Amino acid sequence: MVAPSGEARLLVDRFSRALRNLRLSVTDRCNLRCAYCMPEQEYVWLPREQFLRFEELSVLVDAFIGLGVERLRLTGGEPLLRRGLPQLVALLAAKPGLRELALTTNGVLLEEFAEPLFAAGLDRVSVSLDTLTRERFAALTRRDDLDRVRAGIAAAQRAGEAHGRGPLKLDSVIIRGTNDDEIDALLEYAREVGGEVRFIEYMDVGGATRWSMERVVPRREILDRLEARYGRIEALPERSSAPAERFALRDGTIFGIIASTTAPFCSTCDRSRLTADGIWYRCLYARSGTDLRGPLRQGATAEGLSALIADAWRSRADRGAEERLHLAATERARRLVAPIELRGDPHLEMHTRGG
Ligand code: SAM
Ligand code: SF4
Ligand code: SF4
Repeated sequence: MVAPSGEARLLVDRFSRALRNLRLSVTDRCNLRCAYCMPEQEYVWLPREQFLRFEELSVLVDAFIGLGVERLRLTGGEPLLRRGLPQLVALLAAKPGLRELALTTNGVLLEEFAEPLFAAGLDRVSVSLDTLTRERFAALTRRDDLDRVRAGIAAAQRAGEAHGRGPLKLDSVIIRGTNDDEIDALLEYAREVGGEVRFIEYMDVGGATRWSMERVVPRREILDRLEARYGRIEALPERSSAPAERFALRDGTIFGIIASTTAPFCSTCDRSRLTADGIWYRCLYARSGTDLRGPLRQGATAEGLSALIADAWRSRADRGAEERLHLAATERARRLVAPIELRGDPHLEMHTRGG
């Protein structure tokens, strides 16, 4: 049952943050091994029989929409590895009350899936791409797939336009000594393909076992480098609670920066994440989440699920990235989660939780 919209507006957490954005991680599997996300040789995977079926996801999404969620993003792992994804998109796109249904993908399989996904009702796609050099891509992701990603981006641009959907976003994690000499090239590539790039600061999330503060390229430095090359940069007024701050070059080219590490946006964070096996996390850094699969499979009513979600959101006091920022440098240098702990609970991994 969907709660009346008046009630939905009242659901806020302990810092008055509403519940508006939900990321659905539809699989923890991935066909790349990005050094900042999945650097290890071996991983412990979620058991497939625990993955929520599409009908189960639909029931949970109804409960979330009833409590105020209006934007959904499909992510992973690599969401295009989940069999039948266009069917899930069609199921979710038909839900009244949803303002946006988006997808974050590494793009490897996008050439095949862009058209069926937009045809099924997807609103927009963000493709993660950190380098335009074939050798570097292969070294960074451990797969030689740059050409497939580029073909996927072209297909998404064509299909998005054909269906009149939102502009393509490119997400690039900038890492010192890895791809920080490609900031301008990525910006120009995004412009060429009719998309908008967002530069993301390297985060010390679970799974990022190679992270160090020295490798983070802060927002200020990204802006300085672009300013040195293109001249004055104008900050654009904020349009939403989206984490990206947007900027314009003098020629009108727009780009974004997500300064999750040096200027976290916890105070306005309205997002949460559901793993493929139905554990709901209210912060990227939270050590534990709420099991929604168990109650769902044991026959909880829609009202029961709604109450469980609402109670958990009301008690939310997470501000993980801000807390990390205020740690002393020595403490911060220590890994957020040790590899041995990650093997003990794969839910602590970014690729399980959904970035
Ligand atoms: N596989 C898909 C992809 O790469 O787009 C979706 C899942 S991935 C976990 C979602 C996003 O998280 C990607 O844009 C990725 O670059 C970002 N990400 C992963 N690890 C990160 C880290 N340590 N710091 C910053 N962003 C990270
Ligand atoms: Fe890379 Fe995304 Fe896969 Fe992580 S989940 S390894 S960011 S493609
Ligand atoms: Fe939101 Fe947690 Fe990220 Fe802060 S660290 S922005 S509270 S998900």
